[in-house]
Amino acid sequence: MEINCLFCRIVAGQIPATVVRETDTTLAFRDISPQAAVHVLVIPKEHYADVATLTQADPALAGDVLGTAAVVAETEGLLADGFRLIFNTGQFGGQEVFHAHAHVLGGEPLGPMRS
Ligand code: 5GP
Ligand code: ZN
Repeated sequence: MEINCLFCRIVAGQIPATVVRETDTTLAFRDISPQAAVHVLVIPKEHYADVATLTQADPALAGDVLGTAAVVAETEGLLADGFRLIFNTGQFGGQEVFHAHAHVLGGEPLGPMRS
């Protein structure tokens, strides 16, 4: 755990979050500032700064994040109409929290990637 990492503190229960799914290795919780009708974040419980670092260090864990994201998409009812799965990465990617996370977005038409 990284003491100053927001998402590590959510994993540790030090900051509240609305958890929608938890596995041994991953946690999924609602984004505090939703950008769509459904907006869930999926993280590895172990700290990695971003998805590239995570995938290089532990590809199985990266797969766990994708698997949890897929289950969340199903339980949130997103499979029929589709959804968006995004990993913002680094400065140009607009990443603000440097603990790897997937955004699961859906529940309404999302429009083009650039709008
Ligand atoms: P990023 O820009 O790093 O890809 O996304 C970070 C996301 O974390 C943002 O969508 C933001 O709304 C969300 N976020 C920031 N602080 C909190 C928090 O304390 N709790 C929750 N649930 N989400 C947060
Ligand atoms: Zn962290």
